[in-house]
Amino acid sequence: MTHLGNSAGSRDIAYHLHPYTNLKAHETTGPLVIASGKGVTVTDETGKDYIEGVAGLWCTSLGFDEPRLIDAAIRQMRTLPFYHAFAHKSHEPAINLAERLIALAPVPMSKVFFACSGSEANDTAVKLIWYYNNALGRPQKKKIIARQKAYHGVTVAAASLTGLPNCHRDFDLPLQGILHTDCPHYYRFGQPGESEADFATRLAGNLEALILQEGPDTVAAFFAEPVMGAGGVILPPATYFEKIQAVLKKYDVLLVADEVICGYGRTGNMWGSQTYGMKPDILTSAKALTSAYLPLSAVLVSEPIYQACVAESAKIGTFGHGYTYSGHPVSCAVALETLKIYEERDIVGHVRAMAQHLQPGLRAFRDHPLVGEVRGIGLIGGVELVADKMTKRPFDPSLGVGAKLVSFSHQHGAILRPIGDSIGFSPPLIITEQEIETLLFRFEKSLADTADWLVREGVK
Ligand code: PMP
Repeated sequence: MTHLGNSAGSRDIAYHLHPYTNLKAHETTGPLVIASGKGVTVTDETGKDYIEGVAGLWCTSLGFDEPRLIDAAIRQMRTLPFYHAFAHKSHEPAINLAERLIALAPVPMSKVFFACSGSEANDTAVKLIWYYNNALGRPQKKKIIARQKAYHGVTVAAASLTGLPNCHRDFDLPLQGILHTDCPHYYRFGQPGESEADFATRLAGNLEALILQEGPDTVAAFFAEPVMGAGGVILPPATYFEKIQAVLKKYDVLLVADEVICGYGRTGNMWGSQTYGMKPDILTSAKALTSAYLPLSAVLVSEPIYQACVAESAKIGTFGHGYTYSGHPVSCAVALETLKIYEERDIVGHVRAMAQHLQPGLRAFRDHPLVGEVRGIGLIGGVELVADKMTKRPFDPSLGVGAKLVSFSHQHGAILRPIGDSIGFSPPLIITEQEIETLLFRFEKSLADTADWLVREGVK
């Protein structure tokens, strides 16, 4: 962390209200000020390098210095730095990107709506679902079900969908009508003797029970990330989405796939929906859409949803939803270039090849006394630290073991993500075999330091 005498650090403390930060602690620790980036590495203001093990916030898929994205942005800036899409206006970058995304979609989709962030995309999806059911003349069918530990963002509806207490507590959320069902984490919530498939059957049964309890004619949609990211890198148990989708179909409940982390290759397919056999009615995506070089998100909607929007808006003339920056031309130009690079470099093939190194490399830590579970697919992984390997007993959260490991990893030159005591990995998709080895080696040293620290603290 920055020394407080440092001017950038002290000015940060003086003026900058940080997102997702322990604000009190920040007043004494100050920020880690990142100054530049190259490939999968970022460099802080003192010149120290770090492998970005989480691609920033699971997003810089092409690393930190892709010249083609910079050139695409500059070209578009020079041609048309801004135009909007309200009231029948349009421009080539948005048109081309919408066409490209419809061609890439994992299931037939009809139209693309653009926003700036994952949160806005998910708020848009919620509003479309409400609009859709009004169009169909069933105004009571409005409740939405998400899952405990889900992450869907922080705007008012998206934060309500998110199933993490910190996003609700003291913000007066969730909104009424947004409900949460089980987190599909087999290691934590599977019962003794229960197979993964039986666990999935039980969760699908609980979802059905919730829908019946609420009344199927009041439940509109179910939101799910293919792999839950910010809730702890939680992979669905075998047969989960098959069974969940059967329930949704039975009660005419829409499926929204939140592909904000999983989209564009992360799980070893272009979409997490393909990895897990999801057939969404709405798909939201962001982050790797532009490799995070500029803010952009996309909401893909099915033909019936589009037709309902047309019918409903026809009553008053205008579809009353849209952002100033919906389909920002510079963001769209960068997204088109990003998608071109993914295709030219076969990013999905590269992820599959690199997963052959990251996944076994992470699984090698399974035998470590502090490690309860290692999970992952493609280039996303999680290592859960536990106080007792046999009983799966977690550490007392007040010890901050995950955060401690990540502070050691900073010392060793790797940026990782603590999610409670699970350590998240989601490196840029361009990472090489050798860089994965370096990342794993730095993690190993951080794990060893954490074990020593726990002994010094008298915990283990
Ligand atoms: N959905 C998922 C699955 C996410 O991981 C995130 C961000 N981590 C969001 C939505 C929200 O995206 P944003 O932060 O761009 O609003």
